[in-house]
Amino acid sequence: MVMERIEIIQGDITEQEVDAIVNAANTTLLGGGGVDGAIHRAAGPELLEECRKIGGCPTGEARVTKGYRLPAKYVIHTVGPIWRGGNNREDELLASCYRKSLEEAVKLDIKTIAFPSISTGAYGFPLERATRIAMREVINFLKENEGIERVIFVCFGSEAYNTYQKIYREFSTQ
Ligand code: ADP
Repeated sequence: MVMERIEIIQGDITEQEVDAIVNAANTTLLGGGGVDGAIHRAAGPELLEECRKIGGCPTGEARVTKGYRLPAKYVIHTVGPIWRGGNNREDELLASCYRKSLEEAVKLDIKTIAFPSISTGAYGFPLERATRIAMREVINFLKENEGIERVIFVCFGSEAYNTYQKIYREFSTQ
């Protein structure tokens, strides 16, 4: 059952003991604020070194590094769209972030992966709309890929947590 492979928690993604955590990065991959800053702080300076070598990532795509001092073995860096009113391919680019990150996870033979709420912080994507896209893409991907056993949505704060729970219930009753 696909919905049973999805978990929603409130917490800090850097503490998750999973095979890979996803980073909501920016196109430079050179670190930033929010979840990106937290991941770089927790992983240590080797992460920035490896990101430098990659040389950037376009919006909607994903790149893999090791996790260094994180409990997670890998970090999958994806670049969400900046919200510009909703008519600038924001929805499809955000969907692409989830799909491409999961495709990288399959290539690495990963069983467990944790996502933050991509684009809903500094990038200003409306939370409910983003959550619906995240849930839809993960559900569709899990249906086609038995290898991924667990996807954890890590919510930073109760507003995100309550929104994810609500959207999860919507999809459960469909
Ligand atoms: P973006 O630029 O893609 O909007 P942000 O890092 O600003 O990225 O925000 C993305 C989401 O990550 C927000 O919902 C923010 O609250 C959340 N976040 C920030 N720090 C953490 C963390 N340590 N663990 C999980 N989520 C986090």
